[in-house]
This record gives sequence, C-alpha cells and structure tokens, in this order.
Amino acid sequence: MPPIPDQRTRRIAENEVVFREINERLERDLRAVSADETERFAFVCECGRQDCELTIDLTFDEYERVRADPLHFAIVAGHDEPDVERVIETHERYVVVRKHESTRPIVEWTDTRER
Ligand SMILES: [Zn+2]
Repeated sequence: MPPIPDQRTRRIAENEVVFREINERLERDLRAVSADETERFAFVCECGRQDCELTIDLTFDEYERVRADPLHFAIVAGHDEPDVERVIETHERYVVVRKHESTRPIVEWTDTRER
C-alpha cells in the first residue's frame, strides 16, 4: 500500500481529477465534430487550484499522450505544486506534471478509461 496522502495532497489531487473529467468529456464531444488531428482545442488547465480558469491549447494527440498515464496532468506553466507533483515535460503551451505515488489511489480510481 502506498502511504496515505495528507489532506492538502488529497485536495489538490481531487481538484485535478475534476478538471481531468471536464477535459475527458470535452475531448469526447470535440471528437464527435472534428477529426482534425492537427487542430488545437482549448482544454482546461488540470492544476490543483480550485479557482483556476485558464485553458491550454492542445491537439487530441497531445492530450492523449498526457492521458496515457493516470498520474500525469497537463497544466499551465507555473501552476504546479512542487511538494505534491513534479514537472516532467515542458512544452511551449503547457507543462506535464507527474503526481506523487501517494496520490495513485485517487487519480487511478477516478480514471474511468480502460487500459
Ligand atoms: Zn491552472
């Protein structure tokens, strides 16, 4: 069993999961109207700030690459919380963070995708 995450770690992970669910629905809706793999769409920043309203422009492919790992989230540069996650990729329009292992239960159980 991984260590139990503290309250702050849990809250941040839960916020990120909510944003991920929004993006998940967004992608599904967008795919119904566009098959253009090069077009960028405004996804919501998946950071842990409850009041964040920023968006990041991603192609389906860029989004899918982040989504491939339940511990990974796409956020606006500077929106990472270094004590609970770590920036693993820096792109021009966004960065990818990897959550600490202790949050795996939260981010995995809420991941509805089949793998
Ligand atoms: Zn943000």
